[in-house]
Amino acid sequence: MAMKKVAHVVERPGRKFGDAPVSIPVPVDLLSTPGIPSRERDVSFFSREYPLENMALEESASVEWARVERERFTPESIEFFDEHQKQMEPIVEWVRVSGELEPTGTPDGEDVTEAIRQKARELGYGEVGFTRNDAHYVYNTRKPQMRKDLPHAICLALEQDYRKTQTIPSMEAEDTHFGTYFDQGPLTMELTAFIRSLGYNIQVSGPTWHYGPMIPLFVAAGLGQLGANGQLLSPHFGSRARLQIIYTDANVTYDQPIDYGIHKFCQECQVCVNRCPGRALMPDKVWYRGIEKNKLVFKRCRPVMARYEGCGVCMKVCPIQKYGMKPVMEHYVETGGILGKGSDNLEGYELSDKGYFGPGKLPSFKREFFDMPHGRAEDWLLIEFRNKLLENKVKNGEGENEDLLWEDFRSRMEESLEGREVSADMGMDRGI
Ligand code: SF4
Ligand code: SF4
Repeated sequence: MAMKKVAHVVERPGRKFGDAPVSIPVPVDLLSTPGIPSRERDVSFFSREYPLENMALEESASVEWARVERERFTPESIEFFDEHQKQMEPIVEWVRVSGELEPTGTPDGEDVTEAIRQKARELGYGEVGFTRNDAHYVYNTRKPQMRKDLPHAICLALEQDYRKTQTIPSMEAEDTHFGTYFDQGPLTMELTAFIRSLGYNIQVSGPTWHYGPMIPLFVAAGLGQLGANGQLLSPHFGSRARLQIIYTDANVTYDQPIDYGIHKFCQECQVCVNRCPGRALMPDKVWYRGIEKNKLVFKRCRPVMARYEGCGVCMKVCPIQKYGMKPVMEHYVETGGILGKGSDNLEGYELSDKGYFGPGKLPSFKREFFDMPHGRAEDWLLIEFRNKLLENKVKNGEGENEDLLWEDFRSRMEESLEGREVSADMGMDRGI
């Protein structure tokens, strides 16, 4: 007899276009709220007074540091990353100016939701959903470039290779991570051409150049819920996907947020929290910018990402990523347990210089491992410069030559301004 009583069953389209739909049971004890618990007034307050900003700008101080560390730990990743950047350049350029593309047809007034959904599924997108374009989730510096006349958002998730993802952290996993960004390019070009042929305008967010964080819109469109690993857990492939949004004025109907039970399931599971090499994931949820979530601590994550092929252990060890939501929830209903938890198959991973870590075992790092520049590059340079001047004062002018300090400060500041278009870290967003 099943251990848990089922509250409702979520019906979702199959994983690939043409596959049979799936039914996901959600037990009573995991019920919380469709989407994510939020306080709209707080979301509005933070978005107005402390607008969101792109990590590539907010954490630009560590860009060069991360590159040096990557080169030290995995020199092959630098060449790979540079090659990827080169290949992505035309796609990113197209994304940036996509809002200037004109419609090529005339709208007939019909609702085109299902026509767009079908076209996107035929092209290979695993999850497709429709919601409103929410201005709370637009980066401050990208607001001027965003069209104000596109009220709807089409959320698109493209699955990345299963087998390669299970080798995380590795260059093979990086290959599917970046390869999926590359695949997104031509697919969106074709999908937006279709929407324009229906007579509508578009503007594209991603890959590699985004108007804002995308997960809140995907959750609003019912495509999954936010996991404790900070990633979108979608029904078929969890977070093993790359996300994109097309903003449009097409005549569409919105999907609704869904309670898949993930908000509470993560508190039972906690595998990613326990397996994170950097101890960067928090076990308890907190209210942050009007949303209740498990907050990731960036300064404990980035030093690991930079040195271990983008890390991603939190994606690899997630049972929803590995087995899919249906088997995981069915197992929970039947047994009250977490599918795969405690097994090497789910939880094991290897770090290049440290070896294999099975369930219950974690690598240790010296405190200095987590030392890195923080915040914006220009702020960090200024702090460093001020500290050197202060040091000079203490040494009564016997320290470094102040003219040379000025010169060094100025040239590094100019260098950092020139580098504002560089990705923050291995394919994350660009600065401007
Ligand atoms: S990427 Fe690695 S270090 Fe960062 S949160 Fe995930 S598991 Fe932890
Ligand atoms: S590993 Fe478990 S706790 Fe972490 S995101 Fe996946 S389901 Fe949630």
